[in-house]
This record gives sequence, C-alpha cells and structure tokens, in this order.
Amino acid sequence: MQDFASQNWHERAASLRPRHQAFIDGAFTDAANRRTFACLSPIDGRVVADVARCDNVDVDRAVRAARASFDGGAWSRCHPRSRKAALLRLAALVREHADELALLDCVDVGKPISDALGVDVPATAALFDWYAEAVDKLYGEIAPTGPDALALVTREAVGVVAAVIPWNFPLDMAAWKLAPALAAGNSVVLKPAEQSPLSALRLAELALEAGVPPGVLNVVPGFGNEAGRALGLHPDVDSLAFTGSTEVGKLFQGYAGASNMKMVWLECGGKSPNLVFADCDLDAAAKRAALGIFFNQGQVCSASSRLLVQSSVRDAFVERLLRETAALRIGDPLDPATQIGALVDAHQTERVMGYVDSGRRDGARLLCGGQRLTFGAGDCYVAPTIFADVDASMTIAREEIFGPVLSVLGFDDEADAIALANDTVYGLAASVWTRDLDRAHRVARALRAGTVSVNTVDALDPCVPFGGFKQSGFGRDMSLHALDKYSQLKTTWINFNR
Ligand code: NAD
Repeated sequence: MQDFASQNWHERAASLRPRHQAFIDGAFTDAANRRTFACLSPIDGRVVADVARCDNVDVDRAVRAARASFDGGAWSRCHPRSRKAALLRLAALVREHADELALLDCVDVGKPISDALGVDVPATAALFDWYAEAVDKLYGEIAPTGPDALALVTREAVGVVAAVIPWNFPLDMAAWKLAPALAAGNSVVLKPAEQSPLSALRLAELALEAGVPPGVLNVVPGFGNEAGRALGLHPDVDSLAFTGSTEVGKLFQGYAGASNMKMVWLECGGKSPNLVFADCDLDAAAKRAALGIFFNQGQVCSASSRLLVQSSVRDAFVERLLRETAALRIGDPLDPATQIGALVDAHQTERVMGYVDSGRRDGARLLCGGQRLTFGAGDCYVAPTIFADVDASMTIAREEIFGPVLSVLGFDDEADAIALANDTVYGLAASVWTRDLDRAHRVARALRAGTVSVNTVDALDPCVPFGGFKQSGFGRDMSLHALDKYSQLKTTWINFNR
C-alpha cells in the first residue's frame, strides 16, 4: 500500500465516481420524479454529483421495501450468528474501502482527509464490529413469578426503523444508527443530510455485498422538509432515530404525534462546558481544550464550546491555549498535513461569521481568529477563533455555533463553576480538569450532561452510551443501551395447569 502522505489525494478525488441514486430494495434507482440536487464540495465549489432528490413517493417505496423485507424474515428472523457474520463482513469491507469512503466524506463536507481516514472510517468499522459481536450474546430475562407460572421477557426488533442524520460525520452518524438497528434485526430507511449523501450510498452498497438482504437497508437522499418530513410522518415507520439540531428534533416529535405515534429518539445540539480548575495539568488541559473546540472545524455536537477557567490561572491557561491554537494547520482538506479543513458550505460559514460579529458587537474580546479565509478555489474556512471576557448572557455563550468559535468565561470557586456550566438549555457533554479526585466526583455528579469527561474532553467509545440531558435530546447511541431504540420488550406469561 502506498504511504498515506505521499498519495495524490487531489487526483484521486477528481476521479471519484460517487453513487448518486437512491438505494431502495437492494438497487440504485432515480427518484420517481427524476429530480436531483447538486452536491457541492466546499473545497472548490465543484458539483461532485447530482443526487436523487427523494420525496414522499420514494420514501413510501423505501418503507414498503423495508416492511416487506422485515416481514419476509430473511434478516429479522435469521439466526443471530448470520447477522453477526454479515455485519463483521461489512466492517471488513469498510476497512477495505477506507480510502474511497474517507475521500467521499472529505470532498463532500471539507473535513481533513487525515481525520476522515484516521478517525471517521476506523470508528465506523469498529462500531459494526462491536454490534456484530454483541448480536449472539444478548439474553432475555425470566421474571420472578410465583411457582405456577413462567414469565419470559424477550426483546424483539421493532420492525421498520427510520434514521435521519446530520452532515458533520456523515459515515459515522450513519453507522451510529445502522449498526445497532441492523444488529437487532430491523429493516432501515436512512436519510442522510442533503449536504453529505455520498458515503451513506456507498455504505448501503457495501452492506448488500456483505450479505445484508435487499430491502433491509435503504437510503433516500433528499431535503429535510421533503424526504425527512415524509419519514417523520410515515404511518408505517415504527421507530425514528434522529441526530441533528434541537429545532428540527422538536419537529419530529410533532410528526410522530400527527401520524402513528412512532417512537422518536433525539440526539440534538449542545453547548458543552469545559471546566478548568487551577489544580489541573494546565498543559494537557490546554492541548485538549483546543482539540475539544477546533476538531472537525468545531462542527461537533459535543464540542467544548464554553471554556470555564478558574480566575487564578486564567491568564496562564489562555496563553497556553493560544499557543496550541496557533500551531494548528488550517487549509486544503486534501493535504494530509491539514488539521483544520473547510466548513460544510457557504451557508454554514456565513452563519458562523454571524456569531463572530455578534461576539464583537456584544463586547467580547477577540484573542485570535475571527476571519473567513480562502484556500485555492474555496472560501468556506474560518480561522480558529477565541473570545475572552465573555459574559454568560451573550449570544455566543448561549447558542450552539457549530463552528470553530470558543467562548472563555471565568469562575472563582466550584459552586460558581457548576452554576455557570449548567446555565444552558443543553446537556450533551461536559469536561472537568482537576487533580482532586473528590472534586472530580462532586462536580461530575452536579453537571447536567449525558457524558462528563474528567481530565480529557469528549470521551466517546462504543462501550459507553452517548446522548443528552435537557434539550440535547433523549435516548442513547452506542453501547447496548442503543438497542432500546430498536427493540421492544415482550412479556410471555405461561400459566401452569395443576
Ligand atoms: P439539521 O437539524 O438541520 O438536519 C439534520 C437532519 O434533519 C438532516 O438530514 C436534514 O435533512 C433533516 N431535516 C432538516 N429539516 C427537516 C425538517 N423540516 N423535517 C424533517 N427533517 C429535516 O442539523 P444539521 O445542520 O445537519 O446538523 C447539525 C446539528 O446536528 C447540530 O445542532 C448538532 O449539534 C447536531 N448533532 C447532534 C449530534 C448528537 O449526537 N447529539 C451529533 C451530530 C450532530
């Protein structure tokens, strides 16, 4: 294999031939109305593909294919070891096609090729492995009835699962939903974000090659208010797993109420606090704080976008943080040395710059960044930006920016830090930096967040649940707890005749 750094990623990106049709019942197909939408690369603005623009007609077709495959039983009623084998093969195929999948995401959303290849693709393969390995180790329960009965509590697949996902980690977000939903025996209709449909379409094709039967995994690219809404309102979808903004998440609760009361599971936005106490390892904390906000251009739901620093070490810490930030290499996503690439599109870039303006207007002190940048033919870049003297009431401290913009706030003591950290409508993640074990536990307990990382940021692993408190949503991805979204409990009570 060629060395990663020496490959000509530009040449390979130019020769990509992405799948661009919907994937329904095991085959690629145009949208029924033959409409398409242009999928643009933020790297150079070129049209990478004209992608099928699915609407309610295509969604209905996909749901019917999913239902037929579920009722047919080739996947839903096969031996768990067969599902395990197919999902392990899919993980292997993801690894085999790592370069292509990484390139698709890199070109589609502008993330650095080194991240796509070094983080996103391996995480996707690992997740399919993890759920594949779990499938044949899941047991039911026997309830503590009296001596004249036997009550079995078993888990059954829910049936047709819809997954609606965002663009920040296109391949990973697909895997977060697909791996547990397929492992549990469901049939799935996946709608990728309109900004990033390409890797999901290729993944569906690889799943078929791995042995996932036709109709079990369908992909309907399209817009939120067309294909997304149609899935939300469809009367034959049993469970819908959503990842995206809090605003759109709330719409899905309405869709469920207005249709068949499908289960809806929401993984939404965040404004995660990173608490730095004076007694911590300041060097390690500064390094991770920079990563916690600038990784993936800040387009991470659990990004540590509010940095709360104990006042006694604020200057010393900020100095270190600025050094770490200055060392980050921003530029062409197809250059393997790049650490910060492009934002997903011009709209998102303008949105982020709007927040930079709002920070300036509200009187926050700009320490670095604040500019929109151009590299080659692309202008969807924002320099890593840090604001100090941020007040908790400012817009940049309250709203999810979803870009490389960090707000630094000060605190005096533990109680003050906890109050500031919890002063948000979100509750996805939080970090605490301290050498004091008692404090670490006290603060972790007091923080209203789904994941609290201590002496790191953004702890994430298939073996632990991930999801939010408050308006960051409910339900969990990852770990065996994710199976709650994709299975139902059944009680079978058997009375003994005497
Ligand atoms: P978004 O809410 O705009 O879109 C997410 C998905 O919903 C897309 O597929 C989109 O097409 C669809 N959609 C949009 N409008 C719709 C409508 N009216 N009806 C039905 N579907 C609709 O979010 P985004 O901009 O793609 O992603 C960014 C957001 O995702 C951020 O808020 C981020 O925090 C969140 N996110 C959360 C997690 C998590 O695990 N909690 C992970 C990644 C991203």
